[in-house]
Amino acid sequence: MDKTKRLANGIEMPRLGLGVWRVEETDATNSVKWAIENGYHLIDTAAIYKNETGVGKGIAQSGIKRENLFVTTKLWNADQGYETAHQAFNDSLERLGLDYVDLYLIHWPVEGKFNDSWRAMEEIYASGRAKAIGVSNFHQHHIEELMTTAKIKPMVDQIELHPTLTQENLREYLAKEGIAVEAWSPLGQGKILQNPTLTEIGKKHKKSAAQVIIRWHLQSDIIVIPKSVHEERIKENFDVFDFELSEDEMKQIDHLNINERLGADPDNFNF
Ligand code: NAD
Repeated sequence: MDKTKRLANGIEMPRLGLGVWRVEETDATNSVKWAIENGYHLIDTAAIYKNETGVGKGIAQSGIKRENLFVTTKLWNADQGYETAHQAFNDSLERLGLDYVDLYLIHWPVEGKFNDSWRAMEEIYASGRAKAIGVSNFHQHHIEELMTTAKIKPMVDQIELHPTLTQENLREYLAKEGIAVEAWSPLGQGKILQNPTLTEIGKKHKKSAAQVIIRWHLQSDIIVIPKSVHEERIKENFDVFDFELSEDEMKQIDHLNINERLGADPDNFNF
């Protein structure tokens, strides 16, 4: 399996990375360092996580060459709009201590604002300070609305996606549009790791339920960013390239879908 996915603009994005939502600054520094030491190249943060400074320190301390790393951050809702998006992006870069990010995402589809935010993001992309731009939590209709004014199609849509929320329709639409799918809360925030289907499949391959889920994402052509602050788990979550789920096992996991959201519905959020 390729460890990277080619985005619509030709940029190679690692298929497996580290997420750092609800991670304190100091933990973020350590987690990022451990992840990089264990082979990760993709780090997913956001302005609202309030740990971009810690992430930046982890990157600096790891000693990895910048070009070997893929850093994503996101534009928070309160900063949406044309000028505010430009400012928020500059602030993120400064906190990260970087002169570019690899991917900049609109965090949520704030109605009446995301088209203007996108105009700023297109300029940021043109300036080379974001190597790719995309969206997060966008349903099909949000993307269609964005495209009424956009010059550039988003390269990625980062959405809630795990075995109990498989998002088949949206994935089909994104595939047709050439927009890469990235899963947030890919492990169901740890709440589905006791599921017997997953643990049984894991036993057969001598892998944990977390590793089985991560492998299911990868084999489904989904970019995946599990979060952990523990070195052993960070390592475990990357140790998924030496086994393969059978077609039957893939189907068994697909069938765990119950359309259950752990986070807000992008059509109904109040933050
Ligand atoms: P996740 O599904 O990655 O689950 C993380 C939790 O699973 C951990 O806190 C831990 O309890 C458990 N866990 C992780 N590895 C484990 C292992 N090997 N064994 C046992 N337990 C393990 O949850 P998440 O943090 O919500 O999502 C991942 C990332 O997605 C976030 O950190 C963030 O970067 C991104 N995200 C984005 C959005 C968005 O709106 N775009 C929203 C939520 C999360």
